[in-house]
Order: sequence, then C-alpha cells, then structure tokens
Amino acid sequence: DSLSDIRVRKPETDDEWSDLLVHINRLLDKIDSYVSNQKRFVEDVSHELRTPVSIVEGHLKLLNRWGKDDPEILAESISASLQEITRMKVLVQEMLDLSRADHVDVDYKNEVTEIYTTAKQVYNNMKLIHPDFKFFLDSDDREGESQYVQMFRNHFEQILIILMDNAVKYSLDRKEIHLSISRSVNTVEIAVQDFGEGMNQEDQEKVFGRFYRVDKARSREKGGTGLGLSIAYQLIKSYRGQIRVDSVLGNGSIFYISLPLLEADSPLLVNKMQKQ
Ligand code: ADP
Repeated sequence: DSLSDIRVRKPETDDEWSDLLVHINRLLDKIDSYVSNQKRFVEDVSHELRTPVSIVEGHLKLLNRWGKDDPEILAESISASLQEITRMKVLVQEMLDLSRADHVDVDYKNEVTEIYTTAKQVYNNMKLIHPDFKFFLDSDDREGESQYVQMFRNHFEQILIILMDNAVKYSLDRKEIHLSISRSVNTVEIAVQDFGEGMNQEDQEKVFGRFYRVDKARSREKGGTGLGLSIAYQLIKSYRGQIRVDSVLGNGSIFYISLPLLEADSPLLVNKMQKQ
C-alpha cells in the first residue's frame, strides 16, 4: 500500500503500543526493501543504457576521424547510431510503463473491459502485422454473451501484445501461435502458446524479473529490452490477477494469465452500462 494510506493515532493500552511497534518495524523492513529495490533498478537502468550510449559514442568517434570523407563509414555509422537511439527510446518508454504499472491509477482501476472483443482486436492486428505466422483463436465465447474484467482497456491490450509479441519473437521454424480464452465460474484464463525456443525451469522462474533475458544477444537482436514480461507481471498484479508460464526448452511456451471476472450485476458494470 502507499505510505499516504497509513494513519497513526496515539496508542492507549499496552497492547496498542506493542501493535504499533510491530507495525513500525514492519514498515521499516518495507522501506528498506523498497530503497534497495530502487537502488538496484537505477543500477540496472544505467547498465542497460551504457551499451547503446557506448555504441553511438564509438560511431561518432569513427565518423569524426575518418567518416567525413568515407561515404561507406558515414552511411553505416549513421544507420547503426539511429538503431541504438531507437533502442534507447524504447527502453525509456518501457521503464516509464513499468513504473506506472506498479501503481495503476484508481480511475483506471475502475474501468471495465470486454474480454472477447478486445482480445479479438489484438489478435486481428497481430495477424495483420505478421502475415508469415499462422494464428489460431480458441475461445468459449458464446454469441452475444459479453464478459467483463475490471481493467483499463489499454492495459489489457498491452499485456496481450507483450505476450503475443514474445511468442512471435521467440518462435523458430514453426510459426504458429494460439490464443485461447476460457472461463471458469469467476475468472477468465487467457493463454498464449508458441512452439518456439521454450526455456528451462530455472529461466521460467526468472523471466518476470526486470531486465531478465535468457539469451541477451538474441533478445537484443530482436529489439527486446527484457522489460516486457515485468510490465505484464506488474500490471496483472495491480489488477489482482495472476500470470505464469509453462515451457519446455526447444518445444515452446504457454503463458497463462487469469483475471477475476466481473459479475453481471456488479454495481461498477451496471453503472458503466447505464452510461453508454
Ligand atoms: P524481451 O524484451 O527480452 O523479450 P521480456 O521481458 O518480454 O523481454 O522477456 C524476457 C525473456 O524471456 C526474453 O528475453 C526471452 O529470453 C524469454 N521469453 C519471453 N517470452 C518467451 C517465449 N514466448 N518463448 C521463449 N522465451 C521467451
């Protein structure tokens, strides 16, 4: 919870005093872990930015010494530098997304999103962007029956895009991706499956961490930053959902997300429907 939510009043009994001390100690632990977390983040970010900055620096030095008279060096250095600058832009945007995902605005949390139409839209866009892939959509959507989650639509889309983008990025020869949506009584489960690289158990436990990449060079070559899954993880957590991965090295991965469904008569949903 945010620190501004905490209010302290003067304890009166011994028990209340002990409670207060327990709370203060707990709070100190939290602050301690928060500070070291932030420190690690700053270290990670500096580390991530150092590579593209050094590459651009190297190219500028090259240009400065020889490039002005050599059209080949000129063209190559400019193109390589531009590529690194794009990477930095993506990185900065994703860091911002990550920081926002941590603490989703209350206004966003009170939004509702219809699952099937939103997922289908992301799915159709992916099909358009990647014509060389075969996409399959498997859902137990019943005609005319809408299902809602309490979530800002852009966030729902962002999570699906991260998972489907990864499925594309880490596919090998078998360019096939399955999106499936199923629901139980009060949750919806969405699965994104690919038949690509997959990963071992140890990596599966780490991939949701910031900047974690199984193969740094490969991720880099694909324009990855190692932040996608941490953004998805933080967002899902902010909406009280769950995300997990089931993968076999060399055989592909399935990422599952589950989110609580809104009941048809929930005041939030009824309210939104009336406004439309
Ligand atoms: P990146 O920008 O590197 O893709 P992510 O946070 O989205 O960052 O993913 C972290 C790492 O998890 C990736 O670098 C990759 O090694 C691994 N990964 C993610 N999705 C998949 C997938 N569908 N198949 C295999 N590996 C994956």
